[in-house]
Amino acid sequence: MGRAGNGPRGRFRVHSEIVSCLFCEIVAGRIPARVAFQDESVLAFHDINPQGPVHILVIPKRHITSVLDLTPADDALVGSLLRRATDLARSEGLAERGFRLVFNYGEDAGYSVYHIHLHLVGGRKLGWPPG
Ligand code: AMP
Ligand code: ZN
Repeated sequence: MGRAGNGPRGRFRVHSEIVSCLFCEIVAGRIPARVAFQDESVLAFHDINPQGPVHILVIPKRHITSVLDLTPADDALVGSLLRRATDLARSEGLAERGFRLVFNYGEDAGYSVYHIHLHLVGGRKLGWPPG
């Protein structure tokens, strides 16, 4: 799954099945989100259940299911997710005191929305190791 293209209406195809994805729906504008940034390939929006004073999700507009679905062709896209997240960290005032960038995957990490997303969390002291 994973690499099927983003449909115009926020749905993508897995084999012959049309599947709907929460973050594709946000990209398509059918589910509202508090957008922090967007360009033609990247969307950043505030997490609905923030784990800190700042909690932003940075996603590719194209559906990619998880980090395990990335290929070398996605290297530039991953770089732009990372650079956009660090730009947002600066503009949110986190660059001095620090922040955390996280990609979750799988049950042990509590991966719950299967559209790749980079978490930017900051604005408070963050424990290590994470829970
Ligand atoms: P993960 O556990 O890495 O899969 O993270 C998924 C994140 O998506 C969680 O932090 C959720 O709070 C967040 N989330 C779920 N639904 C929405 C939504 N409609 N708008 C914004 N964030 C959401
Ligand atoms: Zn998606």
